[in-house]
Amino acid sequence: MVFELPKLPFETTALEPYMSAKTLEFHYGKHHQTYVNNLNNLIKDTDLAAENLENIVLKTAGKEDKTAIFNNAAQAWNHSFFWSCLTPNGGGALPEGKFKEAVLHSFANEEKFKDELKSAAVSQFGSGWAWVVADKDKIKILKTGNADTPIAHHLTPLLTIDVWEHAYYLDYQNRRPDYVQTLIDKLLNWHFAASNFSAL
Ligand code: MN
Repeated sequence: MVFELPKLPFETTALEPYMSAKTLEFHYGKHHQTYVNNLNNLIKDTDLAAENLENIVLKTAGKEDKTAIFNNAAQAWNHSFFWSCLTPNGGGALPEGKFKEAVLHSFANEEKFKDELKSAAVSQFGSGWAWVVADKDKIKILKTGNADTPIAHHLTPLLTIDVWEHAYYLDYQNRRPDYVQTLIDKLLNWHFAASNFSAL
């Protein structure tokens, strides 16, 4: 299988002024593309060339001799997922339904849930990701370092925030908390998270 860069679910200008076209041109067009290219080169003529992306992540997770493949496969998966977590006119209140009910069962209230997500995103030391995941009927928040991904730990991702510097440095420089707060207020696609939860 040769992997391709998936299409963005919006125009590169669609998230302005909160995430610039310039950021997306580099983040999607250069960084994400490079993970896909590296992965294709690394799996060429190996047994993994026959596998889908999720299986490659699962089969290489925790294997020291497969670190480069894991890193590029997991980053390819994480970024494809991340683009669907963003939408123009996103953020704001959680949509009514099963996902919101589960959030309210797992956290004191919606505000606490979002505070915990922000705190995970801001406190991840160095590069990584903050996640909303489903663990059976519970909603949990966690963070992962570098390329690590909940799918490698058999958890179901519902939503993620990329906190690598390449995700925000052009627009926010070192102000990661401002970037995270802006995503929470303006860009997060809670309908995508809710549909991932409904699909379980
Ligand atoms: Mn990224």
